[in-house]
Amino acid sequence: KGPDPDLLLIKERMSSVKHKILILSGKGGVGKSTFTSQLGFAFSSDENIQVGVMDIDVCGPSIPKIMGLEGEQIHQSLSGWSPVYVQENLGVMSIGFMLSNPDDAVIWRGPKKNGIIKQFLKDVDWGDIDYMLVDTPPGTSDEHLSITQYLKESVIDGAIIITTPQEVALQDVRKEIDFCRKVKIPIIGVVENMSGFICPNCKGESVIFAPTTGGGKKMAEDEKVPFLGSIPLDPRIGKACDTGVSFLDEYSDSPACKAFQDIIAKI
Ligand code: ADP
Repeated sequence: KGPDPDLLLIKERMSSVKHKILILSGKGGVGKSTFTSQLGFAFSSDENIQVGVMDIDVCGPSIPKIMGLEGEQIHQSLSGWSPVYVQENLGVMSIGFMLSNPDDAVIWRGPKKNGIIKQFLKDVDWGDIDYMLVDTPPGTSDEHLSITQYLKESVIDGAIIITTPQEVALQDVRKEIDFCRKVKIPIIGVVENMSGFICPNCKGESVIFAPTTGGGKKMAEDEKVPFLGSIPLDPRIGKACDTGVSFLDEYSDSPACKAFQDIIAKI
């Protein structure tokens, strides 16, 4: 049996993508898609940098809404499927663009999920891009195995792991770290999200998730992986996501924005 011809096609497509970064989390709801979208907005704020966001959370695609692209459709061109563009240098691909109703449930078995991921890599005309940010489903499932397998000829630069401070979330992060080590993806670092709450009135900080903030940092130290920083809970992040705008642009003077920017500067 010869090499899979699709892998060669993927390799050819991906040769025009400079850096490929996976965004992972052990659990759902920790802010992985939020982080991916803000990273996309932040990188593309430099008009000389071309960014692609690929949402392979096949069963729970939230990127179209968070990036203000709900209801958009994918277009076909001679050179393949075209991503949906937020702006000229920020393209997005998501299964969400293929659903006739965003509330439709996607109930697919592994092979079909793998098929769509393969198509996103092989058939999408991403053009020359500097960063491809891949938003993955929580945990380590079929989607993670397929993307690492399909990109094995094309080199994944690294993974960013998003967590919240609770011990139950941190436990799952250890599994993500283990996964990256097994499939030989470098770990760019761990981000602790929803880490404390700064009251907008009194400016005092409250610890919401026990036992304490800083759990992500300690876990990263124990596991000997870089810790990129903590982002506090801020209701305006949810608001920006629900309305599909860049939190970093809208609330640039907030502590959460500063935290985001410090993290992004390390990537
Ligand atoms: P995941 O991709 O990990 O499932 P999401 O990015 O969809 O998680 O985030 C889950 C919810 O939490 C969203 O409503 C999002 O707006 C909100 N959220 C994420 N990070 C924060 C934060 N630091 N402060 C407040 N809300 C947040």
